[in-house]
Amino acid sequence: MAERLIALVDHRTAPLPVPRAGGGAPAGTLRDARGRPLRDLRISVTDRCNFRCGYCMPVEAFGNAHAWLPHSALLSFEEITRAARLFAARGVRKLRLTGGEPLLRKGIETLIAQLVALRTPEGGKLDLTLTTNGALLARKARALRDAGLDRVTVSLDGLDDAVFRRMNGVDFPVADVLAGIDAARRAGLAPVKVNMVVQRGVNDGQILPMAAHFRGSGVTLRFIEYMDVGATNGWRMEQVLPSAEVLALLQTRFPLTSLEPTAPGETARRWGYVGANGRHDPALGEVGLISSVTQTFCGDCNRIRLSMDGKLFLCLFASQGYDLRALLREGKTDAEIEAAIAAIWQARADRYSELRASLTPEAARGRGRVEMSYIGG
Ligand code: SAM
Ligand code: SF4
Ligand code: SF4
Repeated sequence: MAERLIALVDHRTAPLPVPRAGGGAPAGTLRDARGRPLRDLRISVTDRCNFRCGYCMPVEAFGNAHAWLPHSALLSFEEITRAARLFAARGVRKLRLTGGEPLLRKGIETLIAQLVALRTPEGGKLDLTLTTNGALLARKARALRDAGLDRVTVSLDGLDDAVFRRMNGVDFPVADVLAGIDAARRAGLAPVKVNMVVQRGVNDGQILPMAAHFRGSGVTLRFIEYMDVGATNGWRMEQVLPSAEVLALLQTRFPLTSLEPTAPGETARRWGYVGANGRHDPALGEVGLISSVTQTFCGDCNRIRLSMDGKLFLCLFASQGYDLRALLREGKTDAEIEAAIAAIWQARADRYSELRASLTPEAARGRGRVEMSYIGG
């Protein structure tokens, strides 16, 4: 079959805001234009992936003709570590490595060891985690843990082998991902979280089997609404299964009770499995519902994203990033880069999901929007 080519985004670079004198705020209290603190840095370490999930890197857009970034364009481990250190100085407390598929980045354990050594201004450790499709996890879990990684999130869209093979686009067997999850747990990368993107009519039949499989296993399963990220997945609202429907379905089989958030800005609403005593039974665990489309959470969004080639994005739905790599490679001092980070965050007013319903059809089509595999979700 002839390959259908979809033009990918020209990642236009936004001009840097002018830093205020002194960075505008003392360390640790940086707030954006809507009063949101900067806490969570997601670092995409590669544009490559060994899967072709239709909702993220459809093969029609990411086929043989796709131009991948050359190695020289990627931030080096030293550049990533320096950037993370400067973000930690300005309030970041959580780092998440992502991609593309982060376990494809050669020597990822070395980067992890470098990031583990970073400290907050108060001398505390940063929370370090990684999101993976799990394909290489059985092989790498031990080395990741030995390098100092705290925990992992594994993406898994179903237990049925045929459904899973179809969704990952490369006929990859589900048993290998399940083996990766087991290896992560044995290595102590706990708690393991599993993310399932739910698409109506594609894998909604997998919701109850997934819940039954992970209930009481120590793994927290989270259901994510299919999002209109990027411009290549052909998203339509009818394909979204609202979290409310997922919850109603779960409750036909398992009694659940609402749990308090564990941290401000948490994306998932937590629901605990109810035990024989009528209350949440921690041994049975919990599920999370991430309702990025139907119950937006922009008001608390404390996340910033760094692409593999060093662009900073303030929102998952942005079409322009700030060129941090240029600053890192132009010989700017730490103080100059920290001031630039502060200016970028302080000017941030993004709240795409809150505005989604009021967008013009042209804006909603997402032309120019960066792909999820570029900024890592
Ligand atoms: N390759 C790794 C993985 O799949 O876990 C890390 C990168 S992937 C872009 C990060 C997360 O984004 C995954 O959990 C994936 O399921 C999610 N994701 C990708 N496209 C999405 C979409 N259109 N809607 C919702 N989640 C999406
Ligand atoms: Fe690859 Fe992850 Fe995107 Fe799937 S969701 S195509 S595994 S980057
Ligand atoms: Fe944050 Fe943008 Fe998502 Fe809103 S739409 S929660 S601002 S990433």
